[in-house]
Amino acid sequence: MVNFKKARERMVEAQVMARGVQDERVLEAMRKVPRHLFVDEALRDQAYSDHPLPIAENQTISQPFIVGLMTESLQLKGGEKVLEIGTGSGYQAAVLAELAGRVFSIERFPDLGYRANATLRKLGYENVIIRVGDGSLGWPDDAPFDGIIVTAGTPQIPQPLIDQLVPGGRLIVPVGDRTAQDLILVERAPEGVRKTNLGGVRFVNLVGKWGWKE
Ligand code: SAM
Repeated sequence: MVNFKKARERMVEAQVMARGVQDERVLEAMRKVPRHLFVDEALRDQAYSDHPLPIAENQTISQPFIVGLMTESLQLKGGEKVLEIGTGSGYQAAVLAELAGRVFSIERFPDLGYRANATLRKLGYENVIIRVGDGSLGWPDDAPFDGIIVTAGTPQIPQPLIDQLVPGGRLIVPVGDRTAQDLILVERAPEGVRKTNLGGVRFVNLVGKWGWKE
């Protein structure tokens, strides 16, 4: 029987902190969110391992370090409105919910969206709203957002997401081909957008108007 709390502490220290994530609020959120409850029961023992894991619909829950890196890049201080594209298991949304005021998350597959919603409700996260649809179009009704996180790889940065950032807002998105991408941080400043490459990653495809066509 795995001691999940201990496994989580080890995960944060050996995988997330060791690779340079320093924001104490992010580390604390990752020590708290029970990642094993976001995967199938048969995979729970691997939930704190240093790799992504399969979820339904041939999708994945991202590697813990990547969750830490992407979350840290948003520089959340508390109270922000954040948009996530690619709800998947709901794990990343839970980490964001610990750090921001409100989290809006969009998932393409209804089945994943419903399941993630059920998990988050069961764990008491009341500041997350999940919608099923094409997240590459953003969430215009509730825009603008202080931070936007895209957890699927896209050939181009969806323009609606840049448009839905507040001035000074931050967008983190994996951009590249179908098998390998660079993690691009976009900062929206009054004089334009600034882009920084945070390094190579491998994400499942963003499928939608501004992403891949299936
Ligand atoms: N953030 C998730 C988590 O914590 O489990 C992991 C997400 S998984 C790597 C990527 C997700 O993006 C998949 O669930 C996939 O169905 C979803 N996705 C792909 N294209 C999408 C789109 N256009 N709109 C919304 N979700 C999309």
